[in-house]
Amino acid sequence: MKMNRNTSGLYLHIPFCQGKCRYCDFYSVNFDLELVEEYVNCLKKELILYSSLFNNKDGRKPVLETVFFGGGTPGLLTGSQLAEILDLLSGEFNLASNAEISMEVNPSSMTEEKLQDYHSAGVNRLSIGVQSFNDRELSFLGRRHDSREALEKIELSARYFDNYSIDLIYAIPGQGIADWERNLRQAVQLSPQHISLYSLQIEEGTPLAKALAAGEFKKTDDALDAEMYLLARQVLTTNGYEHYEISNFARKGYQSRHNRLYWEFKPYLGVGAAAHSFIPPERFWNHADLFLYMEKLGAGELPVEERIELTWEEQMAEMVFMGLRLLEGVSLVEFYDLFNVDLTEYYAREIEKLESQGLISLNDDRICLTERGLLLGNLVFMEFLP
Ligand code: SF4
Repeated sequence: MKMNRNTSGLYLHIPFCQGKCRYCDFYSVNFDLELVEEYVNCLKKELILYSSLFNNKDGRKPVLETVFFGGGTPGLLTGSQLAEILDLLSGEFNLASNAEISMEVNPSSMTEEKLQDYHSAGVNRLSIGVQSFNDRELSFLGRRHDSREALEKIELSARYFDNYSIDLIYAIPGQGIADWERNLRQAVQLSPQHISLYSLQIEEGTPLAKALAAGEFKKTDDALDAEMYLLARQVLTTNGYEHYEISNFARKGYQSRHNRLYWEFKPYLGVGAAAHSFIPPERFWNHADLFLYMEKLGAGELPVEERIELTWEEQMAEMVFMGLRLLEGVSLVEFYDLFNVDLTEYYAREIEKLESQGLISLNDDRICLTERGLLLGNLVFMEFLP
């Protein structure tokens, strides 16, 4: 097994939460101090197993350009747990000196002491799960903070981190276009370096899905959803943010380097329960069940649940539909370099259809989504599925 193609990233999944948000269908378990400690030990065991697998014959360690702590709520880790993991990483892997080390945090579990500790341990980017600055919307989503706490914690974060991102959710039932614009203007006023936006999806089995079925609210209609998206594009781009991926906006020099690996079809390793990895040509993922994950590591085994080897055709399709998420699109030259195939010839029929529908555009070196394509991305991506 080899990490290659120049840039590699590491994702660490921390599947603990202080409670369940009403819209969330991710696997997570209730926070428990002892369980987290045991879990951190397992993460370290998993990292050591991979380090020995990846070590080249000449003893050189694999280079990591990005590290991302996602969840769940990684901000529930103590400063010393985080430092232990990062220390181990520096010893077992070759952590690039300018590596981007990101961490997802929630306002409700953030303290000044933790921010200080995370910063001294080496974290250099925060992704803050704000979701809204409106108390009614926060309570509808089942978040554990209100707008006052969100503002307070963002200001605190800015004291320790010059690179932080804010997540916002739109198309929340009952949210009007003016409410959404207030959220956007508030975000812009705080001036984070990066903003991510997600349209609320009501996933099966969540408390929100049950409330919807019981007729407690109506879903936001598609037209308003699209209007909100276009408004965000307009407000953020006129305030110095570059729209660089379907859901992501950044000031110059502050795009998420880790997430770009996914969109650029580059390799990454995921550790922790339910974490996914892509080491070409394989995709593989760990057991989601925390206890099964820990049991496997306890027995000295990798906790991988399944592996699939992508065919050549699947790899080409993935590179196209993941790359199209970036507004700069997919480079025809890079595609050729990787597959020795001319993208425009191989997908001639799909490209002609999507171009005639005004969903993609093709210039000399790149194929990308149009503004209409940004709104109908899924239709475009489906065309490339093998
Ligand atoms: S904090 Fe994040 S992972 Fe945890 S329940 Fe809420 S949305 Fe889900």
